Amino acid sequence: MIEFQAVTKRYPDGTVAVDALDLAIEDGRITVLVGPSGCGKTTSLRMINRMLDPTSGTILLNGKDVRQSRPAALRRGIGYVIQHAGLFPHRTVLDNVATVPVLNGTGRRAARARAAELMELVGLPPAFARRYPAQLSGGQQQRVGVARALAADPPVLLMDEPFSAVDPIVRDDLQQQLLRLQSELGKTIVFVTHDIDEAIKLGDRVAVMRVGGTLAQYDTPAALLAKPADDFVSSFVGRDRGYRALGFLAAQGIELAPVATVPVGAEVSAARARLRDGWAIVVDDQNRPLGWVSEPLLSTMDGTVTAADLTSGGSLYQAEAAASGTAGTLRNALDAALSSPSQLGIAVDTDGAVVGGISADTVLRALAAARETGEVPV
Ligand code: ADP
Ligand code: MG
Repeated sequence: MIEFQAVTKRYPDGTVAVDALDLAIEDGRITVLVGPSGCGKTTSLRMINRMLDPTSGTILLNGKDVRQSRPAALRRGIGYVIQHAGLFPHRTVLDNVATVPVLNGTGRRAARARAAELMELVGLPPAFARRYPAQLSGGQQQRVGVARALAADPPVLLMDEPFSAVDPIVRDDLQQQLLRLQSELGKTIVFVTHDIDEAIKLGDRVAVMRVGGTLAQYDTPAALLAKPADDFVSSFVGRDRGYRALGFLAAQGIELAPVATVPVGAEVSAARARLRDGWAIVVDDQNRPLGWVSEPLLSTMDGTVTAADLTSGGSLYQAEAAASGTAGTLRNALDAALSSPSQLGIAVDTDGAVVGGISADTVLRALAAARETGEVPV
């Protein structure tokens, strides 16, 4: 556990970056510090590993004042990832990852072998090992940064806007990867971001800070969306919070509607006979969805239904949890329905096979039911 007790940081020019901060950070969880630029997130993070010391107050790591540990010793147990990975430009990717273990006395061979494993863990192909950082994209460099921070197997990981400088699609990928890694590693992660969506997606708990270095609210993402403590939090959490809150409600067990399926390669006449409310979903030989057909489309097809000319489907709704992930939420279910050309979202199992359809009405009924049982605060 990391505990901030009345921590204040005043810089020599008089700026109060962090003001009497009290915060208890749980072990094995992702805690996100979020807030606008200049609210003291980086300053708070850097006081944990003693890159900075507080002006007053105390930070405890597992009950011990961090100032009782020498910075070098402290940092062996605390990985640190920053925005522009901060890699050594003249070392290969593999050696970048192996650096800290070697400094800590691990033999070079063993350190490199471990580095290769870590590269795989963060999703980097082995061929990258001998490249230099400049030969990697921003997203790949961030993966190397994460692998490097994990190399000494520290129980604590500090991450300062690690994904802020990459484009949204890569960022989404890195976020998913981090959640997957965390489900295996169970580190104590303190993650800094200015992006509330990222905070809500990644955080087990989220600390919203305001400029002046004070804590506005410390809560679970769901509670933050449902009950913002004040106007600042509510405006920071944003206009779409009702919609985002759907993302916390598991849609497991939600009632699925029958959906018409047509195997690819079927006769057009057979497909026509199967349409339901004017639509059918075309599936491959493993019942995975390929796209939709409707009467106007079938009338342009010659003999059999081919995969090439289908109306593309919407997002899919994962009806059951995969081994390494979670089942879909009401938000996913609603999105599947709204993005489908037939207005019926497609629910799939862990193998991606169609198990049923889901309509927006069903999702709204499930939401109403959740509100009645108090599962979501109204
Ligand atoms: P954030 O990471 O939330 O953007 P910072 O912790 O970097 O915020 O900064 C908090 C406040 O402290 C800001 O007003 C910033 O300008 C100020 N600050 C940061 N570093 C220094 C410094 N070395 N000297 C003076 N003021 C600083
Ligand atoms: Mg910062």
